[in-house]
Amino acid sequence: MSIAENIARIEERIQKVCDTSGRRREEITLMGVSKFQPVSVIEEAFNAGIRCFGESRVKEGIEKLSVFKEKHSGAALHLIGSLQRNKAKPAALFFDCIQSVDREALAGELVKSAANREKPLAVLLELHTGEESKSGFAGLDALFRAAEMILGSCLMPQGLMTMAPYTSDAGLIRSSFRLLVKAQKELERRFPPVENWACLSMGMSNDFEIAVEEGSTMLRIGSLIFGDL
Ligand SMILES: *Cc1c(COP(=O)(O)O)cnc(C)c1O
Repeated sequence: MSIAENIARIEERIQKVCDTSGRRREEITLMGVSKFQPVSVIEEAFNAGIRCFGESRVKEGIEKLSVFKEKHSGAALHLIGSLQRNKAKPAALFFDCIQSVDREALAGELVKSAANREKPLAVLLELHTGEESKSGFAGLDALFRAAEMILGSCLMPQGLMTMAPYTSDAGLIRSSFRLLVKAQKELERRFPPVENWACLSMGMSNDFEIAVEEGSTMLRIGSLIFGDL
């Protein structure tokens, strides 16, 4: 299977679940999770229409994608893996969006690091909703404190990110996504305008259909596009 064929199959599945759940395809971004993939393969995905890419490591992303970024100004590059404070600066200068803002200290570090950017740095707050590793804010209070810190800074909040537990139990996955939607509703109420929180980055290769049903606006898909690593 070529990458273009893989993407076409995923597109069919997204369209199908949009049809059955009353969602519109246009409101959902399909991100290609390009971590550990060589640039040649990432180019293939770009040529097949993918315009948003996710990397899990700062150094790898910068080394691999600097030239790609120059060449394709229409591509958005997101950091989706956990970020150490000492790498906040290079991350803030290179990526278009940091999806893995998962603690106050990191939010603070990014506020400082993004001050010299031309465009504001987009960020998503990552909520822990049940996945095994403990990444993400533990609860709403911590999330609200981070939201307060970010609003009025040079960071541009765009929404929330989560990882559901890796399981075949659809009920567990669904309740994880529902927690994210609930957090979004609270943030919209406390910290308007609602545009600040519009993005719900949830859904990966094994659970993206449930994520679409629950309101995802960004699917982070790696193995289904690029093959198993
Ligand atoms: C690797 C990764 C993905 C993609 O996972 P697949 O199961 O390969 O689709 C999505 N989100 C995050 C945060 C990841 O680290």
